[in-house]
Amino acid sequence: MSEPVKVAGLTVRPGEKARSVLTIPNFWADGQSLEIPFMVLHGKKLGKTLYVQVAQHGSEIMGLDALRRLINELDPGKMSGTLIYCLPNPLAFREKSRATMFDPKPGGMNRIWPGDPEGSLTERMAHKIWTELVSHADEVVDLHTASRYCPVWVFYEADGVSEKAPSETARRSEEMARLFGAPVLYVETEAYGGRRTLRASCVDNGVPAIVPELGGHAHFDEEAVNIAYRGVKNIMKDLGIINGDAELPKRQVKLKWRADPKVYVSHCDKGGVFIPTVSLGDTVKEGDEVGFIYSPRSFETLEKVKSPQTGYVFTIRENPVVHPGERLVSVPEIIEWLEN
Ligand SMILES: [Zn+2]
Repeated sequence: MSEPVKVAGLTVRPGEKARSVLTIPNFWADGQSLEIPFMVLHGKKLGKTLYVQVAQHGSEIMGLDALRRLINELDPGKMSGTLIYCLPNPLAFREKSRATMFDPKPGGMNRIWPGDPEGSLTERMAHKIWTELVSHADEVVDLHTASRYCPVWVFYEADGVSEKAPSETARRSEEMARLFGAPVLYVETEAYGGRRTLRASCVDNGVPAIVPELGGHAHFDEEAVNIAYRGVKNIMKDLGIINGDAELPKRQVKLKWRADPKVYVSHCDKGGVFIPTVSLGDTVKEGDEVGFIYSPRSFETLEKVKSPQTGYVFTIRENPVVHPGERLVSVPEIIEWLEN
């Protein structure tokens, strides 16, 4: 039997689900306060705590429906351990935008973790979430949404990128990434986002963390939502919070993320209209044609676009109208195929 848990002033008894808000008083110029909603599902038995958040980039909401399905079916009476859910960025969520005018950096909230109680509005929100919610977590899943023209993938950081992150934390983060069950694991082999992401702040503090990017064909793409639903559940199963064995796809691929897009993204030299000749998930060799540019004036082919390296066709540009120098197809290097 577990004890009651107190999360941000909310007491939750074993076997109960409860929700509340983090309040930041005098948040706005007019003196109004801010509320950040969160929920706690506290198991009857002792166990680990998983923290999950969705939409710190306010328009990236794909994970919401996965958590709606999962949290509505979970019975804390049968859980061993705790799940904490938070909708961390009410400002960007309201604006339906990735970032807001209140973010000190263009990458939005995910460039300022672990926040600052005396900083900008976004930094104050992050600090509150970090100290009141994330501080309870053994592991963290930060759900994001990517473009329509890419697969679902999971970002995590390779061992050694951070001097502070313990090897054990990096190893478990990779395990979480695999357990999430997306077709692609995308390992950051160099520092990402100035290492001020929630994920980086977590691993630097010894808390394994992943960032699933739920690519798909709409805001609620059935396949992406299903992967996220199964993925969070798999991690909860692996942590022993709920019963059962993780369900994984037969095959996953591990790709190498690089900070410099020139290394792995094909660019065009001429402007025009781009037609890809490869599909997502294809493997190509360095110098292979991945598409061509034609002129909307003459309909002549102006340029054949080549792959910058040998790798996996990971993203294809969404709008075919391109100006000189724009990015067209990304082809990260394949580290290995994982058979399950
Ligand atoms: Zn994002």
